[in-house]
Amino acid sequence: MEVSRRNFLKISGVGVAATTLGLNLDPVEAKAQELAIQHAKETTTICPYCSVGCGMIVHTQGDNVINVEGDPDHPINEGALCPKGSSVYQLRDNKARITKPMYRAAGAAAWQEVTWEWALDQIARKTKATRDASFVPTSKIKVKEKVAGVEVEKEIEAEVNRTMGIASVGSAALDNEECYLYQKFLRGLGLVYIEHQARI
Ligand code: SF4
Repeated sequence: MEVSRRNFLKISGVGVAATTLGLNLDPVEAKAQELAIQHAKETTTICPYCSVGCGMIVHTQGDNVINVEGDPDHPINEGALCPKGSSVYQLRDNKARITKPMYRAAGAAAWQEVTWEWALDQIARKTKATRDASFVPTSKIKVKEKVAGVEVEKEIEAEVNRTMGIASVGSAALDNEECYLYQKFLRGLGLVYIEHQARI
């Protein structure tokens, strides 16, 4: 419903009047909320945004999400959600949401839609080319060792098998097992710059 300035003042006036008269509107609001979801399907899920992992209840009617709220039975958040979690329905119902991979060529101003097959193939090719061009098998490092009881520092050529040409950022949406596999994959490629957006 579009709220005009006149309607807004009327609604505010009712609220102020109710408060002035000492009326508690909380039960009315709670009842209105209850009515909206009483015939909806209830599904429990976990917030995908960060590793706190808050429990949620999603109410749906047909294909439509009509309400999302914190799950009071969940031991982590006990019904509470942060603003980000409370707006999670926007992940699905959002006109600005991009649902297909997009590509902007170097120097181009416009993005173009591409297929997942093409995008994944390009990522694999560029990762391989960058790794091959930047791979460093050995590097000089300083180590300490004892010679005749005295600690001395010396430089040695050590095997490092790393690439400084690729970095990774993310992701808070991954669970423990996914993080383990992702980390293993990146270390296997020789990445050193492995970051997480929660630290930025
Ligand atoms: S983003 Fe907010 S609601 Fe979602 S898991 Fe993290 S703290 Fe919980």
